[in-house]
Amino acid sequence: MSPVEPIAEFDLIIVGAGIIGCSAAKAFGSSGRKVLLLERDLSEPDRIVGELLQPGGINALKELGLEDCVEGIDGIPCYGYGVLYNNDVVHIPYPIDEITKKKAVGKSFHHGRFISNLRKAASATENVTVKELTVTSLIRSKEEEAPEKVVGVTTLDKSNQELKFYAPLTIVCDGIFSKFRKELTVKTPDVRSNFVGFIMKDLELPLPNHGHVILTKPSPILMYQIGKRDTRVLVDVPGKLPSASNGDLKQYMKDTVAPNLPDSVRPKFLKALETERLRSMPNGFLPPSLNDVEGMIVLGDAMNIRHPLTGGGMTVAFNDVVLLKELLSPENIPSFAETNLILEQMSTFHWKRKKYCTAINVLAMALYRIFAADNNHDLLVLLRGCFAYFQLGGERVDGPVGLLSGLIQQPMILFIKKLLRVRFKPDGYFDPEELIQCNIHKALATMNMLSSIDVNPYDFSKLLSTRFSAHIVLLQFEYGFAINRFTSPQLHALEEAQDTCIRRIYGA
Ligand SMILES: Cc1cc2nc3c(=O)[nH]c(=O)nc-3n(C[C@H](O)[C@H](O)[C@H](O)COP(=O)(O)OP(=O)(O)OC[C@H]3O[C@@H](n4cnc5c(N)ncnc54)[C@H](O)[C@@H]3O)c2cc1C
Repeated sequence: MSPVEPIAEFDLIIVGAGIIGCSAAKAFGSSGRKVLLLERDLSEPDRIVGELLQPGGINALKELGLEDCVEGIDGIPCYGYGVLYNNDVVHIPYPIDEITKKKAVGKSFHHGRFISNLRKAASATENVTVKELTVTSLIRSKEEEAPEKVVGVTTLDKSNQELKFYAPLTIVCDGIFSKFRKELTVKTPDVRSNFVGFIMKDLELPLPNHGHVILTKPSPILMYQIGKRDTRVLVDVPGKLPSASNGDLKQYMKDTVAPNLPDSVRPKFLKALETERLRSMPNGFLPPSLNDVEGMIVLGDAMNIRHPLTGGGMTVAFNDVVLLKELLSPENIPSFAETNLILEQMSTFHWKRKKYCTAINVLAMALYRIFAADNNHDLLVLLRGCFAYFQLGGERVDGPVGLLSGLIQQPMILFIKKLLRVRFKPDGYFDPEELIQCNIHKALATMNMLSSIDVNPYDFSKLLSTRFSAHIVLLQFEYGFAINRFTSPQLHALEEAQDTCIRRIYGA
């Protein structure tokens, strides 16, 4: 069949009308760009992905004017998590949302219904054209000065008719099994396990209106209500997936998974195994790549994936669209033909998005590693420690759940808080008073320990004492100071404590 000549001119072509594609179409169409959104199948998807939207994702959805899309789909408000381990349950509520000043709330729903609403919203947006076509290739420029530039796409319709479309910018968001990811990066998702999912009917979970994580061997199980009668279960199966067609997968669910479930859940789980089709999806990890190809941007699961344990994919996706809408606004980029300007903005995008995606990505992978401890002794110690930590409640859970739900967008909290053991104030800085007290306490505790093992000025040379002071005690005083400011009384308190330590080291 001979190719048909270009039939339309657009500012922007978007490949894939999923989570990112629809929201990007709405965002750029509303900014006055002429958008062509291409989707290979516009019927309502039936998938086991993207069913719990974190509060940070809801906030981003609101910023995009798409908050209505979670309404009217039998969705269930979600107020946090319940983590079950052995016979204990820990309640991890979402913290107060600093934007709304109310208790944060997420939403869980049937993915397909949400996508249908997003597609309707995209189609209803001025300047957006939606077409059911499969994109088969990207068209590269033949011009000598920019031979690699993407200038359009080739598509096939249902009758195998080939159509080409041209635009100065193409956003590829063709999802986890992306065909076009390779046009940007050689990285491929690292898959260590699969989620096997099905629906359980009329199940009352231990904490209604909460996502549930069951910590069991060999790895965790997720459960959350996605409709009045429907509860989604996702069982993580590490390694090679047993065959569904010969019944091995069902047997695995009965023999390996069901015995470890809470008594209140097991009967409905076993019943659903007899009636429901078991479906699976790979759980991968794909670190983000810098978008540096002229005329093309890759977003969503095509560009960056984390384990779905913490339900963060859609939250990252919607926040990406919010950020990109601003960076590529008509004020910043008057025309999408300004390729170099776009590349500069994409470099900014790469670094700015770390604010919200790093913590979500790192927590998803780290928690999965611990929760899938199986029989690994060291990991089991960490798992027990992690659960006991959650049981302490309060700020111990507010921080982690604030980060994974996309409410706190300060990735350094993840690292500094653990390192310095100091609380952060709402403005994102940590409390200098608390830091000083913490450091003084650590240094004096070190001195006590040194004394208890008979490290004293009478047994050690002055040189050794100086080294002890410089390498062990002084460091503890100064930990974290480079990133804060102190008042004179605070510095005075520090000096006094320092003097105490020095006197004890030198015996003065
Ligand atoms: C098992 C599992 C559970 C998950 N649960 C959650 C959760 O509870 N909460 C959460 O936030 N995240 C969850 N995620 C992650 C989330 O689903 C993804 O991050 C999100 O869907 C990514 O959106 P996307 O737009 O990149 O891809 P998608 O939403 O998958 O959209 C891609 C679209 O591109 C279309 N397409 C593909 N190829 C072509 C082509 N050649 N031409 C035209 N169209 C094409 C597809 O048909 C599809 O509509 C989960 C992931 C998995 C694997």
